[in-house]
Amino acid sequence: MVENLVIIGSGPAGYTAAIYAGRAQLNPVVFEGFSAGGIPGGQLMTTTEVENYPGFPEGVQGPKLMQQIRQQALRWGAKLITDDVIAVDFSQYPFTVASDDLLEVKTRAVIICTGATAKRLHLPGEEKFWNNGISACAICDGANPLFVNADIAVVGGGDSAIEEALYLTKYARQVHLLVRSNCLRASKTMQERVFNHSQIHIHWHSSPISVEGDRILRCVQVQDNLTGAVSDLAVSGLFYAIGHTPNTQLFQDQLELDEAGYIKTQGKSTATNIPGIWAAGDVQDYVYRQAITSAGTGCMAALEAERWLSQRRLSPVGGTPNFVSSVA
Ligand SMILES: Cc1cc2nc3c(=O)[nH]c(=O)nc-3n(C[C@H](O)[C@H](O)[C@H](O)COP(=O)(O)OP(=O)(O)OC[C@H]3O[C@@H](n4cnc5c(N)ncnc54)[C@H](O)[C@@H]3O)c2cc1C
Repeated sequence: MVENLVIIGSGPAGYTAAIYAGRAQLNPVVFEGFSAGGIPGGQLMTTTEVENYPGFPEGVQGPKLMQQIRQQALRWGAKLITDDVIAVDFSQYPFTVASDDLLEVKTRAVIICTGATAKRLHLPGEEKFWNNGISACAICDGANPLFVNADIAVVGGGDSAIEEALYLTKYARQVHLLVRSNCLRASKTMQERVFNHSQIHIHWHSSPISVEGDRILRCVQVQDNLTGAVSDLAVSGLFYAIGHTPNTQLFQDQLELDEAGYIKTQGKSTATNIPGIWAAGDVQDYVYRQAITSAGTGCMAALEAERWLSQRRLSPVGGTPNFVSSVA
């Protein structure tokens, strides 16, 4: 049996693609994941309040939001399999997707929504304060009352770190930017914005080595990388801006990826370099990285897949695919 569409991943992108594909009567099969690249439901399962997803004026708990999107996908007939995909073969058509439980599925189309994982430092004390003082997303968590009019620290020296630091000045009293070397990797324009900002203090040659607090985060121990001296920085927030790792190891020899490992998509579409394969959400987006943009691209991918499959119904399944452009 050949499935119409396999969706890999169960964050906002994967489940949204499943809702649209289900409504288009494609009977999508969704591999939700199990332990590879996060947990079923994706990154929002690891957070508490989501305050910026439309439709929830009072905010919503991340796991509750994902549970509701999952229910909506089930309602429209998505077949959910809680298992990791461990291998894919995109060189033969129909494509093959194999899961950890040795389930091998042949499919006419695939949407990849395996997300990305924020890099963490795994400092002593980090687990206790993760989501309660430590965050990897200023846009998501900056307005948390914990950080309003407070002193906070941002770790990193690239464009993302500068963006996070600048964004956080809307809420925080003072932002301490901890840079491990004596220079920023960010663009000159971004550097100037941070150098000239009265609320941002840059600590050169500085790395956080542990965090402390009681009910909430109170202090970050910072090491001077030149002298080895350790000092206490009194802050109630620590933001990691040290990059993300896209969950694309599976696709390395199969699809075109960029230097950082993100799946390359074409133009304004979610099409990859292989017709019949689309990518949505954080796995192809290092710019916005939000639940709503992931859901949006999940919708796009399902619409593009549905149009492409409708066109292909004219030719028999099997053999070499008729590689017309996958962009509708
Ligand atoms: C702590 C935290 C708080 C956040 N808060 C907010 C917020 O308030 N607002 C907001 O808009 N955004 C927030 N974000 C960002 C948001 O969660 C992400 O942008 C969004 O979840 C990305 O969705 P996605 O569907 O692309 O991927 P993800 O949510 O990363 O999901 C990826 C999915 O792929 C699955 N997977 C991975 N590998 C495999 C495999 N081999 N086989 C099968 N499945 C696989 C995983 O199990 C997971 O289900 C937050 C992120 C974090 C970490």
